[in-house]
Amino acid sequence: MKTCHTVKELRAALKVERLKDNSIVFVPTMGNLHDGHMSLIRRAKKEGKVIVASIFVNPMQFGDNEDIERYPRTLAEDQVLLLENGCHYLFAPDALEVYPDGKRSQTQIEVSGISNILCGASRPGHFIGVSTVVTKLFNIVQPDVAIFGSKDFQQLKVIENMVRDLSSNIKIIGEDIARAEDGLALSSRNGYLTPAERTIAPSIFESLLNAKEQIQLKEKTFEEISEQAQKKLEEIGFTRDYFEIRSQHSLQKPTKDEKNLVILVAAYLGKARLIDNLCITLN
Ligand code: AMP
Repeated sequence: MKTCHTVKELRAALKVERLKDNSIVFVPTMGNLHDGHMSLIRRAKKEGKVIVASIFVNPMQFGDNEDIERYPRTLAEDQVLLLENGCHYLFAPDALEVYPDGKRSQTQIEVSGISNILCGASRPGHFIGVSTVVTKLFNIVQPDVAIFGSKDFQQLKVIENMVRDLSSNIKIIGEDIARAEDGLALSSRNGYLTPAERTIAPSIFESLLNAKEQIQLKEKTFEEISEQAQKKLEEIGFTRDYFEIRSQHSLQKPTKDEKNLVILVAAYLGKARLIDNLCITLN
């Protein structure tokens, strides 16, 4: 695996691959890689010939109140994992390489309608940072296919909408959520949990399973189900952010006849903000 730290280096390497007519599959990440990320790499292998991963802790998607410095950086370990899993190129630029004039003078991409709700409401500007950096990375890598995790369900929808709205010729694939044996979705942020918090954390997935059952029973309103779930999480030590039942397609409040739903949760546990989701199709 070749690691490139500059745009110039990566472009030169990928030009050679394109001349050989090799299809390029791209997996963007922020590093501190775990098996969730590797599930994307494994999927990438099925989708094309040359796998390019990126590791970039994007300052534009962190709010001023969010501690980007604290985000775990483990480049050497990440390189080993990527190599073992068959990645061909790693793009690992620094912030100056991506934002030579600083993040504040960067042209912004905002995907309308979906960027200011749910996580976007709790983290103002977050999705502008995500869609802007992903656009830049797409322009640098020029992949045929890009793989994202459905753990970040709203992020996946933002990218799908962005690619459609900007008429990009990139196939976006959403990969299933990789979970620990106890159900907790794998995440770099799980490292912020104390051992005691780690034992409580799987309750977030249990709250989704429970809400799914309640939805299927059709005895309570979605608002009642969500409120009950948040109260339960608070009782065991979480601080609420949101718990919402939405249309899987639009992420808006579902209409009465909506069959394809997604339950989305975000909650704080100690220093970690955990998110998870579960799709549900009604008959
Ligand atoms: P991150 O490094 O957290 O920005 O994540 C990079 C990519 O990996 C995103 O597309 C995430 O949705 C995906 N990802 C992170 N955790 C998981 C997981 N547990 N299962 C599947 N995909 C994941």
